Amino acid sequence: MNRKKIYLCAICNVQSGTCNEDCKFCTQSVKYKANIQRYKEKSLDDIIKEAKIAVSNKAIGYCLVTAGAGLDDKKVEFIAKIAKSIKKEISDLNLIACNGIASLDHLKELKKAGINSYNHNLETSKEFYPTICTTHSWEDRYQTCLNIKSANLNLCSGGIFGMGEAQEDRISMLNSIKELNPQSMPINFFHPNDALPLTKNTLDKQEALDLIKLSRETLGKDIMIMVAGGRESTLKDDQYKVFEYGANSIVIGNYLTTNGKIASKELEDLEKLNFDIASTCN
Ligand code: SF4
Repeated sequence: MNRKKIYLCAICNVQSGTCNEDCKFCTQSVKYKANIQRYKEKSLDDIIKEAKIAVSNKAIGYCLVTAGAGLDDKKVEFIAKIAKSIKKEISDLNLIACNGIASLDHLKELKKAGINSYNHNLETSKEFYPTICTTHSWEDRYQTCLNIKSANLNLCSGGIFGMGEAQEDRISMLNSIKELNPQSMPINFFHPNDALPLTKNTLDKQEALDLIKLSRETLGKDIMIMVAGGRESTLKDDQYKVFEYGANSIVIGNYLTTNGKIASKELEDLEKLNFDIASTCN
């Protein structure tokens, strides 16, 4: 029997909890005073050390995430410095930047520095977006996704399910993502936190799995579907069913402000289940 090929990706929160935006699902907004670690810049040594650990756990993508509305010159300089340093040591690691709303010029700078892909999620439907964020618009997000494509970076764009959105919002978001035709789509399940205005994940386990299936049916077979935040808390013992329902990638290790499973243990479990863990992005 053919072994199912899956892709692993790791996240590094290079700037945490310093955002002035008001996304109601996000503990990194300073407005909600969630009890998380907050820092302006993680040290380059730590970022490189974590990249090496990610590679040893078979991650083929490493995502550099900053908190905040978007890129400015200073942030571009910071991410470019990180990208160049990592590429010097691990030249074949696929580097993803996730730094919010971005202009074409800033994205071109990142590409020049060695960034391969840019992650910018639509998060939810155009119609539901004003309910979860008032400080920037869904259209700003969509335009950034277009800029990413114009800069010839691989686009990674997905969203969050379980924030109280209706089924038509989910379908609308999936259709918008399909229109953008990204290389990969991250699916997050809302991870509640008492400090946030949204305190409940509205999905049960089966609904979450069915949404992965719906995403696969909508996007077709070629786009990578990666299950990211909320996998453990929403799916509990059925986490690896994500692959039966159409996902072909997961985030390994910790998330931005919540812990995931210990990466080496996850890898062991995936190997026991006989998955073929990809060694390149193709
Ligand atoms: S812009 Fe990004 S970091 Fe800021 S609150 Fe929204 S999701 Fe969180």
